[in-house]
Amino acid sequence: MATAFIGLGSNLGDRLGYVRQALEYLEASSTIRVREVSSFYEAEPVEYPDQGWFVNAVVRVETPLDPLDLLNELQSIEKRLQRQRTIRWGPRTIDLDILLYDDDLVAEARLQIPHIRMHDRAFVLVPLSEIAPEIIHPILNQTIRDLLEELPRRTQVNLLDDQANA
Ligand code: ATP
Ligand code: CA
Ligand code: CA
Repeated sequence: MATAFIGLGSNLGDRLGYVRQALEYLEASSTIRVREVSSFYEAEPVEYPDQGWFVNAVVRVETPLDPLDLLNELQSIEKRLQRQRTIRWGPRTIDLDILLYDDDLVAEARLQIPHIRMHDRAFVLVPLSEIAPEIIHPILNQTIRDLLEELPRRTQVNLLDDQANA
């Protein structure tokens, strides 16, 4: 079994509903066990600013799937949630990214692990440091907490209200 961290994001339509539905699909998957779920956060769009704010969360899962099969499973959940690929980094109903997979390094055309942009994204590091502050980034050799503290420009990431996180 491997331990992986998956980032979830949505900024189209019923954002919280899509994130919750994706969580349900993850939990329903026979090959993925969801072990821990961060709070839900609202984050400003970063790469492509002219779009709505995101709802973001991070989960810790255990899985016997190898990294590429885990990616396939996540992409099939994205499909079920009507993810359309239009603008790169543009609005989407759901985005599921593999952030970390044990201490593995993956450098394939379809898949890079650790996720190559995770360490400079507050919308990843804030929820990830809530559930796994001591985990060490296997390339940068720093904890998630330190990566977050050392972020040069921290974009806005706010905890969603109690109702969303109830
Ligand atoms: P970003 O990668 O900057 O977060 P994005 O999530 O919007 O951008 P997508 O359009 O969802 O990008 O994905 C593009 C491709 O990225 C996917 O088809 C997938 O093959 C590839 N990819 C590479 N590494 C990963 C990873 N760690 N997790 C998920 N997808 C990945
Ligand atoms: Ca992404
Ligand atoms: Ca993605």
